[in-house]
Parts: sequence; structure tokens; C-alpha cells
Amino acid sequence: MRIVVKVGTSTLAHGTGLINIRQVEHLCKVLSDLKNAGHQVILVSSGAIGMGAGKLGLTERPRDVAGKQAAAAVGQCELMYTYDRLFLKYSHVVAQLLLTADDFTHPDRRANLEQALFRLLELRALPVINENDTVATEELSVGDNDTLSAYVAAAARADLLVLLSDIDGLYTADPHVDPNAELIHTIPALTDEILAMAGGSGSALGTGGMATKLRAAQIATQAGIDMVIANGARPETLYDIVEGKEIGTRFLKEE
Ligand code: GLU
Repeated sequence: MRIVVKVGTSTLAHGTGLINIRQVEHLCKVLSDLKNAGHQVILVSSGAIGMGAGKLGLTERPRDVAGKQAAAAVGQCELMYTYDRLFLKYSHVVAQLLLTADDFTHPDRRANLEQALFRLLELRALPVINENDTVATEELSVGDNDTLSAYVAAAARADLLVLLSDIDGLYTADPHVDPNAELIHTIPALTDEILAMAGGSGSALGTGGMATKLRAAQIATQAGIDMVIANGARPETLYDIVEGKEIGTRFLKEE
């Protein structure tokens, strides 16, 4: 199976912006093991801006473009250094790809990206992808990694996209405020009713939220790819997700 896993800042870093060592180590171990079992894995990782802010001693995520660019430049190094070290422990080689919206919309650039991606998979490397936040201006950027991961899954012709988040999946209402909110296990089709369930961004350091996740679900399912939203606090659940067990919320691909 070819699996794209997207991991958000809330999974990778503590509220301080510094790396959540236990969670990142767990994640790298499980992804390495999935590769050892014969799956192809592509990781779409956020955290550059959040970690850069932490490393620069900023108390919150920068809001201005230059601040985000600077934090991303610092944090991306930290991120790749961490992945390189942790995956090497399990003898897996990582490859960094920093992309912007153009890489998906411009036919030549897209072909170029696909060629590099497929060669890396052939070489059994583990592509680690993020938006090129240091140069991606507003018009050029995809803007959030949920959407980016869906584009990546489509370009890679993946079988499955998993978004690891700080929430268990899609609920009937906001579980932080409504005690009767229930987790929805399977979404057979993205109806208007489902699309209306999105709120805003959930954490101080990340950018996503349900809205971008549902947008990702639209892109992935239309491309013929199942998408799962699950809680990144327990990376081991990826084993069950890959086996098709009922974890988080699964959006079924359009046939
Ligand atoms: N590319 C951003 C970063 O690495 C994250 C975007 C997102 O979390 O959606 O910090």
C-alpha cells in the first residue's frame, strides 16, 4: 500500500513550540515498521514554523509573512535533523521535498515532482514533505498542510491518506463544548451537511482545523483515495488504520 501520512504541529510539538520527543519517536518507529512490512510511506510534516518559533524563543507563532518565513527557515532544519536521526535508527533514509502550489498546478513542475517522488519511492527513501514556507508568498502557497497532503496523495497516486491531528476524528458537534458530540466513524460521501460541520483552527501553533481537513477529504476522495482523520497522540493506531479497522473518521473514496 502507498500511504501518505500528514502530521500536524500539535502532534509534533508541545504547546511551548519545542519538540514532543516521545510522540515524534513513536511516529518514526511506526512509520519505519510499516515500511519494513512492505508499505510505501510519504510523510507530510508541519511544524517548521512552530518549531522555528520555539527555537527562536518566540512565545507565539509569528503572524507576519517575514516572521513566518524566518521561523520556517529555522524550524525546517530542526525538523529534518530530527527525522533524519530518528529514521536512521531504523535504517530508513529520508528525503526532503519543499513544495509550493505551483508544483501541483503547473504541468511541467507537476511532472517533475511526480518523477522525483516515484524515483525516491523506488529507491525506498522516505519522502518528508512540507510547504516551502520561506519562499511561498500568499498567492503561491497552498496555505495549509491538510490540503498539501491531499495534493501529494493525488500526485503520488496513493492508496490511503491519513491526517494525524489532536482530535480523534470528525464529530457531530464540537466535542470541546458539546458533551453529546459523537465521533462519526465513516463518511460514505461528503454531503453539504458534513461540509457544514467544520469549525476554525484548533491550536495556537498549528494552522489547520476541520475546514481544511474536509477540503483535503474532498480532494483525496475525488482522486479515488480513502482518507482517515485520527489522533496523532497514539501513532500505533496507524497499524489498525492501514488494516482498515474502525479508527477515527474514514472518508470513503468516490468510485
Ligand atoms: N507548513 C507549515 C509549517 O511547517 C504548517 C502548515 C500547517 O500546519 O498546515 O509550519
